[in-house]
Amino acid sequence: MGSITTIILFSMDCIFCKIVAGDIPSYTVYSDGSAVAFLDIFPHAKGHTVVIHKEHAPRVEDTTEQALAQVMLAVKKSMEKIQTALAPDGFNVGINDGVVAGQAVPHLHIHILPRWKNDGGGSVHSIIKNSGSEKVADVFKLFN
Ligand code: AMP
Ligand code: ZN
Repeated sequence: MGSITTIILFSMDCIFCKIVAGDIPSYTVYSDGSAVAFLDIFPHAKGHTVVIHKEHAPRVEDTTEQALAQVMLAVKKSMEKIQTALAPDGFNVGINDGVVAGQAVPHLHIHILPRWKNDGGGSVHSIIKNSGSEKVADVFKLFN
């Protein structure tokens, strides 16, 4: 007997899967055969965009290498679209990976936050400033 492999492509409870299925409307910024990008309905910046793979996976660790490559290509394409439409001066691009990191929707998504000079925002470094008391060299030992 061979093993049974279950591949979950769609979650009925997932709001982003419902957007992929067309059951919930969205403002599509970019779409291809693998991924879709749409405007965030509670934007933190003008043109705040969310990019997802069309196949359901909650987090980075659950996502195949192929799907990650496809969704990152969609991020680049979406940034080009945003650049053309809104002419921002820069971007922050990020993933809230896990509830503790602020992930509310359990379908991997990449936020694109267009940035403008003097828009009052911060950098990725402003997410957290709590590195603990251990030296970087001691933390590195934990990797080996
Ligand atoms: P996160 O906290 O990383 O899980 O972010 C989820 C994001 O999805 C939030 O910024 C929400 O505003 C956004 N969001 C939730 N539902 C929708 C929707 N139906 N259409 C567009 N964006 C949504
Ligand atoms: Zn989903």
